[in-house]
Amino acid sequence: MSMALWKGSPNFNTGRNGSSVDRIVIHYIVGTLAAADATFADPNAQVSAHYGIGEGAVHQYVNEMDTSWHAGDLAMNRRSIGIEHSADQSRPPDATTYAASAELCARICRDFGIDPNTQIIGHSDVVSTACPGTVDLQRIISETAALV
Ligand SMILES: [Zn+2]
Repeated sequence: MSMALWKGSPNFNTGRNGSSVDRIVIHYIVGTLAAADATFADPNAQVSAHYGIGEGAVHQYVNEMDTSWHAGDLAMNRRSIGIEHSADQSRPPDATTYAASAELCARICRDFGIDPNTQIIGHSDVVSTACPGTVDLQRIISETAALV
């Protein structure tokens, strides 16, 4: 499941305004990957992420060199890669989603020199939000660190 399927989104800024990528921000969709696909394809939604994972698939919406609109904070958006996970308040991610997330995060950590133990953060570490909800952030960090 290492290859992401390109979906695209109109919701992004070209480039990163000179910022280097030094964070991965973890999110939950509050729905399935199909819900993320629909939201990120809608220009009126004004939100996106670089990747979404769920139901056995990895989708990409924004190029890593560009700024996606996921963290609710422009400076953090410019310095981070945002990853959405299929889950909701009563449904945590499944094991397949965790495994795909760790694989993707490990590749990003290698490419950008990111330390998984300190530079993979939850959306709620950026702004006040319930996101990433039922996603076990420490599990993603641990599974990623084992691969880097
Ligand atoms: Zn979020």
